[in-house]
Amino acid sequence: MAYTSADLQRQLQRIDGKGYPAYKDIRGVYMFDDFTLFIDHVQGDPFAAPSRLRARVPMSAAGFPPDAYANRSREIALRDFLARAFSAACRSFSDRGRGSGKSGLMAMDMPGQEILERSSIVITDEYVEARFVAGLPAHGRRVLGRQAAAMLCEDVPKIVDAALKYAHLNRQALAHHLDTAEDADTLRGRLASLRLVAFVADGSILPRRSGVDDRPLQGETVVPFRSPDSLRVEVDLPHRGRVSGMGIPTGVTLIVGGGYHGKSTLLLALERGVYNHIPGDGRELVVTNPTAVKIRAEDGRSVEGVDIRPFINNLPNHADAAAFRTDNASGSTSQAANIIEALEVGAQVLLLDEDTCATNMMIRDARMQALVEKSGEPITPFIDRVRQLSEEMGVSSILVLGGSGDYFDVADTVIRMDSYLPRDVTAEAKAIAAAHPTGRRQEVAGAWPAPTPRVPLAESLNPRKGRREVSIKGRALRAVLFGTEEIDMTAVAQLVDEGQVRAIGQALNLARERFMRPGQTVPQVIAAVMEAIARHGLDILDPRQTGDYVAFRPYELAAALNRLRSLRVEVGPALKTPG
Ligand code: ADP
Ligand code: MG
Repeated sequence: MAYTSADLQRQLQRIDGKGYPAYKDIRGVYMFDDFTLFIDHVQGDPFAAPSRLRARVPMSAAGFPPDAYANRSREIALRDFLARAFSAACRSFSDRGRGSGKSGLMAMDMPGQEILERSSIVITDEYVEARFVAGLPAHGRRVLGRQAAAMLCEDVPKIVDAALKYAHLNRQALAHHLDTAEDADTLRGRLASLRLVAFVADGSILPRRSGVDDRPLQGETVVPFRSPDSLRVEVDLPHRGRVSGMGIPTGVTLIVGGGYHGKSTLLLALERGVYNHIPGDGRELVVTNPTAVKIRAEDGRSVEGVDIRPFINNLPNHADAAAFRTDNASGSTSQAANIIEALEVGAQVLLLDEDTCATNMMIRDARMQALVEKSGEPITPFIDRVRQLSEEMGVSSILVLGGSGDYFDVADTVIRMDSYLPRDVTAEAKAIAAAHPTGRRQEVAGAWPAPTPRVPLAESLNPRKGRREVSIKGRALRAVLFGTEEIDMTAVAQLVDEGQVRAIGQALNLARERFMRPGQTVPQVIAAVMEAIARHGLDILDPRQTGDYVAFRPYELAAALNRLRSLRVEVGPALKTPG
């Protein structure tokens, strides 16, 4: 039996002035003129988490041409565009003067500079659906029925009209949004065949307004990106046509230059280049191999059963480097674990900035080698593994370095940032390397050791908190709250949206419930979660069909698992394959 918006209006009038729990009666489905309103969850009181609603518009009324969601790139970009429109419309209709607590609030998370798949907008051939929250109005703890009716029966239809109907949206802006995303995906997809790990288009604007404002820096002082001729690559894109820019080849790339010349800014743009950006961002055509992972030192983190032998051996106190465990990693061991864990789940590009690396993990110069013999130093620095990574493992590295010229010997490409503009100084660096030998000995002994597989134990993940069987939350970009544990994500650089953090928390639980089985290794479990999401959408993370979740990469999911202090894994010889 279907209710109408008139029924909802009558219902709200009937409960006007009653105690707040009377709102529970409006849970249900209501047919409006040209959409359906689902009131899925009604908050218990005006100060509780707001009520959850969905507005579903049939495609016949929404009117989006099939071309607007004809492929993954365009569908995600369309959903992103609608989320921005819906969020903005909610803001303009939110009226917090409507009573106590969250009364009058209407909201959907506003996306940032990246275009990401979000569960707040769902599109199928049949309909467009927006998921949002509302604070049902109250005076004290009494229902304000008339205000609620104005919100739900008058304002919501206006929001739906403004944000979910093709005819009322800015068509040009929408087309540009979709084309921009499709071009970026196309460009990223071309990288491998061009033997590139990243591309930075000429004219790109890399610097941001501030450390807390991700919009492009503005003003006359901003220097648009311009590729050195020797690294310039041209690519034809479906919408923009031919674009030119700097291609960073596979292999080992150094970004050098004096302090404050734009090195870290370039690397940060490359970190974010795994995502698409909105028109006007300045990084629309800055794309990076989608598996690129930013690596840094992260002392204090826990490490569970990670084979760090490529970098660390012969630890004092007989710690096992093949299954290294600690509750409190040092700078170098944490960085080693970060690298191995990224490789474990398939990273093909590592991004490192000396500002955030452990020096002893990066380099041991000739004098230090002379003073402290190899047998007294457990660390094999990155400089002695980076070529092997490239040649044997097919893993490229991009390093920001201002301090150590020893890396000239192992680099394929050296880019110097000079007043924010890149120069190709590879030949110069090689000539200097030949003229000034470092005198250091390479410290690698033999091939890259076959990694020890790790099998995560489901029982080591516990989402319970107090009486709640499952309690999972995100805390901005900083932490996943999983049961009673707070997983520190502050060193995981490539998270850009709180919705990703929330989704990763749920994904850990999905992994625990469905995929952590005897013999299933970390990369197998992570891949199974990603595949389930690819097949069923973000809703597989939460049966409540909320708008809370944003797509994430396997690397960030693995990063959360690896930082869970309760995590226990079975390693190496204990490993049994099933069946
Ligand atoms: P480095 O890592 O070489 O020390 P940064 O990348 O941190 O330098 O950049 C130093 C400052 O210059 C930052 O405030 C950054 O916003 C600014 N900056 C970077 N690139 C540009 C550019 N292309 N135009 C204008 N300012 C820039
Ligand atoms: Mg820097």
